[in-house]
Amino acid sequence: MAQDTQTADVVIVGAGICGSMLAHKLARNGLSVLLLDAGPHRDRDQIVENWRNMPPNNKSLYDYATPYPSVPWAPHTNYFPDNGYLIVKGPDASAYRQGIIKGVGGTTWHWAASSWRYLPNDFRLKSTYGVGRDYAMSYDELEPYYYAAELEMGVKGPNGQEIIPSAPRKNPWPMDSMPYGPGDRLFTEIVKPLGYDNTPVPQARNSRPYDGRPQCCGNNNCMPICPIGAMYHGVYGAWKAERHGARIIANAVVYAIETDAKNNIVAMNYYDPDKGTHRVVARTFVIAANGIETPKLLLLAANDRNPNGIANSSDQVGRNMMDHPGIGMSFQAAEPVWAGGGSVQMSSITNFRDGAFRSERAAIQIGYNNTAQNSRAGMKALSLGLVGKKLDEEIRRRSAHGVDIYANHEILPNPENRLVLSKDHRDALGIPHPEVTYDVGDYVRKSAVLSRQHLMKIAQAMGGTEIEMTPYFTPNNHITGGAIMGHDPKDSVVDQWLRTHDHPNLFLATGATMAASGTVNSTLTMAALSLRAGDAILEDMKHG
Ligand SMILES: Cc1cc2nc3c(=O)[nH]c(=O)nc-3n(C[C@H](O)[C@H](O)[C@H](O)COP(=O)(O)OP(=O)(O)OC[C@H]3O[C@@H](n4cnc5c(N)ncnc54)[C@H](O)[C@@H]3O)c2cc1C
Ligand code: SF4
Repeated sequence: MAQDTQTADVVIVGAGICGSMLAHKLARNGLSVLLLDAGPHRDRDQIVENWRNMPPNNKSLYDYATPYPSVPWAPHTNYFPDNGYLIVKGPDASAYRQGIIKGVGGTTWHWAASSWRYLPNDFRLKSTYGVGRDYAMSYDELEPYYYAAELEMGVKGPNGQEIIPSAPRKNPWPMDSMPYGPGDRLFTEIVKPLGYDNTPVPQARNSRPYDGRPQCCGNNNCMPICPIGAMYHGVYGAWKAERHGARIIANAVVYAIETDAKNNIVAMNYYDPDKGTHRVVARTFVIAANGIETPKLLLLAANDRNPNGIANSSDQVGRNMMDHPGIGMSFQAAEPVWAGGGSVQMSSITNFRDGAFRSERAAIQIGYNNTAQNSRAGMKALSLGLVGKKLDEEIRRRSAHGVDIYANHEILPNPENRLVLSKDHRDALGIPHPEVTYDVGDYVRKSAVLSRQHLMKIAQAMGGTEIEMTPYFTPNNHITGGAIMGHDPKDSVVDQWLRTHDHPNLFLATGATMAASGTVNSTLTMAALSLRAGDAILEDMKHG
C-alpha cells in the first residue's frame, strides 16, 4: 500500500537531458509536471572535488564514473573496478560496457557534449540501402526540433563552412565554433594529404556567454565535469523546468505501472531509499530513463494485463540494443601534439558517414580525442622507474607527444542484441540488474577491417611509436534501440511521436526509440525526438 499519492498533468520518469528538457517544455506551456529521478541531486563543487582527489591511476584510465558515487537504491555503472551493475554477455560484451549516471541531470553530467544531427539517410536506412530499419519520421519532420534542442542546449557549430556530408539546416548554429587547440590543428593538417577531411564537431558548449552560462575557457575537464558550467547538461533543463513550476522528486525509483481495462496508464509507483512506496497519478506518463533503464523498467513493470512487460505486445522491448562499436588507438607522435588544449572532441573525420557502401557495411566516424595526456604520461613514466628530473622530463615528453584516435561504427538493429532482467543479481531494493547480450555483427566487422587500416595510416603519418590498437570493440555510451519506433505495432514499441502503441497515454522520451544508430553521437537526436513528443502531449491535453 502506497504511503501517499501525488498528482500532476504529466509524470516524467528520469531527469536526464531528455526528461528534463521535455519537462521544461511542458511546464513552460502551463502543464503541471512531476519529474521523478531514481538518483540524488548532485553538486558540481563536490564532483570537482571528488575528481581532484581521485587516484591518478583511475584518471589515467579515463574513469569518469567514480566522481559520481553510485547510491545503493539506484546503482549505476562503474568499471574501475567493475561494480557488476550492468551484466554483459555475448561475443562482443566488451563493446557494451556503457556508462550511465543516475541523479538529477543524468548521464550528461559527464558527457563530451558533441551534438550532431543525423543525416537524412540515417532516417531511411532501409529504404535507401536495404538494411536495418527506417525511422517512423523523416529528417525534415525532425529538423525544427533539432533546432529547438540546439537553441536550448546552446550548440556551437561551423557556421559558414561547407562540410560534406552534412545534415541540411534552416538556421545557423546558435553559436560559432571555437578555434581548434594545437592537437586538433596538427591532426587536421597531417590527415589532409591522406584524403581525410577533419572538420569541427558541433558541441553543446558556449563559445560566448549564452543562456546565463559562461564561455568555455578550454581547460579540457569536460569529462568528467565542466567546473564552470560552460558545457550544457541535463540539470539545466531540470532547473528551468522547476522555475516554471515543475516539481522534482529525487531518489524516487519507479518500479511498477498500473493500467486500466483500456490499457491506459493510471498510476506509477516508486520506492524511496528506505523502500517506502509512493504512488503518482497523471493524465499522461513519460519514461525518459535512458536506453538501458527504460526497457528495464518496462520489463520490470509487467502486470496481469501486460504479462510480457509494459508496451511489449510486440516483444520488441529490450531488443535491438545499439551503440557505436569502436576501435581505439594510442601512440607517441614524432612531433609534440599537446593534446588537451581546448575542449575534448573538437573535430572529426566525416568522409565515411554515408555512401552506397552502407548496403554492405557500416558507416565509420574517425576522430582525434583531444583529452589531456598528463595522467597517462605520469603513470607510464612512473612505471619506467624514473625519479627526479628524468621523471619530470618523461612526463613532459609523453604529455606532449601522446595521441589517442578512434574509429566508431554504425550498427544495425538486431533483435537478438537483447536486454533482459537478470535472474541472479538484484540491487538493494530487490530490483534485478539489467543483462545485455551483444554481438556487433558482420556489418560492423567488415568496416572494422578498413577502420584499422585508416587508423594505422594516420599513426604512421604522425610518425607514431608505441602504437597500441584495441583488438576488441569498445563501447561509446550512445545507447540506442531497446524500445524501437515504427509504424507497425506488431514490430515496434512506439510510433513517430514516441507514443507507445499499447498505451495511448504513455510516451518514451529516450534513445531507446531510435531505429538506426547512425555513426555520430546520438544525444541531440534523442533530445529533438523528446521535444517532438512534447508537441503530441500538448495536443492531447488540448483535447482533454
Ligand atoms: C563519458 C560519456 C561521454 C558521452 N559523450 C557524449 C557526447 O559527446 N555526445 C553525445 O551525443 N552523447 C554522449 N554521451 C551519451 C549521453 O550522455 C547520453 O546519450 C544521454 O545522457 C542520454 O540522456 P537520457 O536523458 O536519455 O538519459 P540519462 O542522462 O541517463 O538520464 C536518465 C535518468 O533516468 C533516471 N532513471 C533511470 N531509471 C529510473 C527509474 N526506474 N525511476 C526513476 N528514474 C530513473 C536516472 O537516474 C537518470 O538520471 C556520453 C556518455 C558518457 C557516459
Ligand atoms: S573545456 Fe573546460 S570550460 Fe570548456 S566545456 Fe570543457 S570543462 Fe568546460
